[in-house]
Amino acid sequence: MFFVGIFGIESKERKIKDLSNILCKACNREEAGQLIKTYNYFHFFFIPIFKWNESYYVLCSKCGTVYEISKEKGKIIERGEGENLTYWDLRETSKDNSIKVCKYCNHQVEDRFLYCPYCGNRLE
Ligand SMILES: [Zn+2]
Ligand SMILES: [Zn+2]
Repeated sequence: MFFVGIFGIESKERKIKDLSNILCKACNREEAGQLIKTYNYFHFFFIPIFKWNESYYVLCSKCGTVYEISKEKGKIIERGEGENLTYWDLRETSKDNSIKVCKYCNHQVEDRFLYCPYCGNRLE
């Protein structure tokens, strides 16, 4: 098909920054974490044209639990205007769309994948 490889839709995830203290519900204490942003984008000749479906996640570095946070909050942290995540900001991601962390490359991968799309190793 003509469009293959020229136009496309990709989803991407990007680590925004390290967080020094997130209140992890699984660890039940403050731990270091990471702010992760995911989005879909439409590209043309591999140049991203526009993005949508942005969402932000917080990953606990200690136990690997991933929490979803609101877009508004995520943007604030991304811009460096604050880093105050409270207990209520962290929403546990629902099971049917859960994310696991590849133990080989530490990328977050949707649970539906059998093989890591980043490094190709089999996920557990
Ligand atoms: Zn944790
Ligand atoms: Zn991997």
